Amino acid sequence: MVETILVRYGELALKSERVRRRFERCLVENIKAALKGIDHELRGERGRIFVETPSADEAIERLVRVPGVVSVSPAVKTRATLEGMTSTAVDVAKKVLEPGMSFAVRTRRAGEHEFTSRDVDAAVGSAILAAIPGVRVDLSAPDEEISIEVRGESAYVFTEVLQGPGGLPLGTQGTVVALLSGGIDSPVAAWLMMKRGCRPVLVHLDARPYSDARARAMAAARALSDWAAGGKMAMYVVPYGEVLRAIVERAPRRLTCLLCKRGMYRIAEMVAAREGALGIVTGEVLGQVASQTLANLRVLDAAVDLPVFRPLLGLDKVEVERIARRLGTHEVSTERAMPCAAAPKRPETRADLGRVLEAERKLDLAPLLEEALGRAERISF
Ligand code: ATP
Ligand code: MG
Repeated sequence: MVETILVRYGELALKSERVRRRFERCLVENIKAALKGIDHELRGERGRIFVETPSADEAIERLVRVPGVVSVSPAVKTRATLEGMTSTAVDVAKKVLEPGMSFAVRTRRAGEHEFTSRDVDAAVGSAILAAIPGVRVDLSAPDEEISIEVRGESAYVFTEVLQGPGGLPLGTQGTVVALLSGGIDSPVAAWLMMKRGCRPVLVHLDARPYSDARARAMAAARALSDWAAGGKMAMYVVPYGEVLRAIVERAPRRLTCLLCKRGMYRIAEMVAAREGALGIVTGEVLGQVASQTLANLRVLDAAVDLPVFRPLLGLDKVEVERIARRLGTHEVSTERAMPCAAAPKRPETRADLGRVLEAERKLDLAPLLEEALGRAERISF
């Protein structure tokens, strides 16, 4: 049976006509890509996208992961006449209502019709009461809502609304480089930027033998790629052990983490130049682990010219964890990981840019960073 899926999108309505069209085209292309391999037809119509497919369950699973999609509803399509809507709605209601349950009919209408939304509510409501014994109407807190969306000559009846990520279509906001560690925070940060329309190129610094998060970073990247609207996602895995060794052996120990992080930012900036990216994304949260103080973040920022985006900056751990669960990276990120063996006992928390620059001058990291990137592997997901 071919089912219709109603796809809602949000904020695009706020844009100018021209921008909105461009965003809508992008969203439609992304949805088509996300549904690749699933037999479907797609139609856009004033603020809604309709997908018709014989594989609704699988299509819905993919649609709720497309950035820009606010929500989707599997719906039954019918003619926009009182008789058509009534008989379809009664069929739908029979599937979800049992004796003792309450329901409400909620109709929304766009176009010219001989009836109002309230006419539909009333006609459909009384038909359901007559057809299903033991049910009652409760408009404020019903067990089930029977929703009807009337659009021109067609109407769509549904009971379920499944949330998508919302935000903007992927690709409407350009490319960013996202530093992906394999911990909980950085995949969430990358995802939040995807939700705002940015395409991320991932960079993981493989700091073996000091720490080993490569497998977790790969798993996180794979989970993130499920939200990339069917598009490929790239991750650079950069061998970073030699860089870190130089920092540990030849710079003040208190500065190890800061110097290590500044090196990561630099590599991210070099990748950005190759990939045409306009910013760097990290999972830093204010006040978390030693390095994440205002003074330190300022010293980190000074390592690069590109803006550094930290979408988690103001979030609490629980909020980050909630998002990580939803996007599917929480499990991989919380597997036991080896703590970084290069971290000093007392890392600097109030870094002074002058001292950091001086330590870096003596280190001469540039050639090591270039070499590390030269040996990087670019993996596609
Ligand atoms: P996360 O949970 O993302 O690992 P964190 O709270 O453990 O973050 P740090 O380890 O200080 O904090 O890392 C801060 C940010 O720096 C990370 O969110 C990530 O963006 C980046 N980062 C840290 N280590 C790496 C790495 N090995 N490769 C790539 N990026 C990294
Ligand atoms: Mg970490």
